Amino acid sequence: MIYQNAKGRLVWHGGADAAWDAWKSASDWRANKRTKRGASKRWARFATLTARDGNACFYCGKPVTFEDFTIEHLVSLTQGGPDHIANMAVSHARCNATAGHLSVVEKVRLAEGMKGSAQ
Ligand SMILES: [Zn+2]
Repeated sequence: MIYQNAKGRLVWHGGADAAWDAWKSASDWRANKRTKRGASKRWARFATLTARDGNACFYCGKPVTFEDFTIEHLVSLTQGGPDHIANMAVSHARCNATAGHLSVVEKVRLAEGMKGSAQ
């Protein structure tokens, strides 16, 4: 379990703590028992992005968990965006699907609208 405290710092609890340590020490901890190829890479990206940006969804601003996060490529790969951390943000799978292949400007507008409507 991960949450943000009042200062906006991510706090890791229980399994996530162990996972974070395992990831940092490059051991082969797995996020779940249904080990899939790429699972540790997925975890590494989630850990890196939430350490940088916090765990709020890029679109709706609500917390994203490891179970339902997707990598949002701000400039989509189909539009020539790089598959690099600088081009990535965490988002819910459903929010990412809503955004589809919008341009960056449209995505930002969508994100502002979704956050606004949630308040
Ligand atoms: Zn979302």
